[in-house]
Amino acid sequence: MKKILYLCALSLVLFTCKNEVATEKSETTINQERPEFSIVIHGGAGTILKKNMTPEKEAAYKAKLEEAIRTGYEVLKNGGTSLDAVTKTINVMEDSPLFNAGKGAVFTNEETNELDASIMDGKSLNAGASAGTTTVRNPIDLARAVMDNSPHVMLSGKGADRFAKEQGLQIVEPRYFYTERRFNALQKIKETQKTELDHDDKTAFYDSDIKDSKFGTVGCAALDKYGNLAAGTSTGGMTNKRWGRVGDAPIIGAGTYANNNTCAVSSTGWGEYFIRAMVAHDISALMEYKGLSLKEAAHEVIHDKVGGLGGDGGIVAVDKNGNVAMEFNTAGMYRATMNDKGDLIVKIYKE
Ligand code: ASP
Repeated sequence: MKKILYLCALSLVLFTCKNEVATEKSETTINQERPEFSIVIHGGAGTILKKNMTPEKEAAYKAKLEEAIRTGYEVLKNGGTSLDAVTKTINVMEDSPLFNAGKGAVFTNEETNELDASIMDGKSLNAGASAGTTTVRNPIDLARAVMDNSPHVMLSGKGADRFAKEQGLQIVEPRYFYTERRFNALQKIKETQKTELDHDDKTAFYDSDIKDSKFGTVGCAALDKYGNLAAGTSTGGMTNKRWGRVGDAPIIGAGTYANNNTCAVSSTGWGEYFIRAMVAHDISALMEYKGLSLKEAAHEVIHDKVGGLGGDGGIVAVDKNGNVAMEFNTAGMYRATMNDKGDLIVKIYKE
């Protein structure tokens, strides 16, 4: 009897030990697979075709995308937050005339530059946004200041410019945003409008010849070492926009969304459709309520929902496990991603 009891006790100990080892092993596997941190960016989606690109232009875009993502990568690697990585990465693209954000923003019908931006913290669900500013050099910094230092989520127009000044952000003359390329793109659209006999405003505004100049927003999504997600988006909007038009970029849930339970998303594309489809939040909601993976959710929203309405564009996103998505239904999207090991992917066209 004693012997039987001894054997029972021994097998219980062995069983418990085995289970502990098994649990430890599966957690280790998850940790090994999950990157320590992750980052992904876009520099706009649209009719970006290789036949319209020179090798020099392509190299310039790729170099700037790489510079931008390396900036965020260094922040994350050194233990910085995803919010800082997103802000600093976007600053690099805002300061480059290549993208439709900050310097190089597209022109409105009145030949001004009106900038929009937003940022969201996946940990607290805090968010900040600004729309239609004309003097703030880096609108993503303003969005961040709105989130951190104001009781509001979104500021617009003159009030937003004034708040930026009060916050000590870098203020510039509106002329700072001028680039010949964007100005010429506006003139071309206006010319098309004049010569089209049977147009309505909508067809002239979105003429297919100028599709390339329509887009070019910048955005970033990141996961930091502490498991916090963040996303941000900055843009000049759409060429020839009128009447104080605001796109999806500064709309939380459309252009930008981040939630530690699901993912962080930044959008680019035809803003009106992205607002109607609530793109960024919808991706998160499909993950949260329907259990879809990031890839499945992004595919459904961009192709079925936005595409179904007749809109075009794309998103970049990171989920809470560091998986990355770069989904678009346009010919191309300037994009890049880097994992915690420093493996870099920079792409422009559909591949
Ligand atoms: N989504 C932006 C807007 O509609 C444009 C873009 O992404 O390039 O304002």
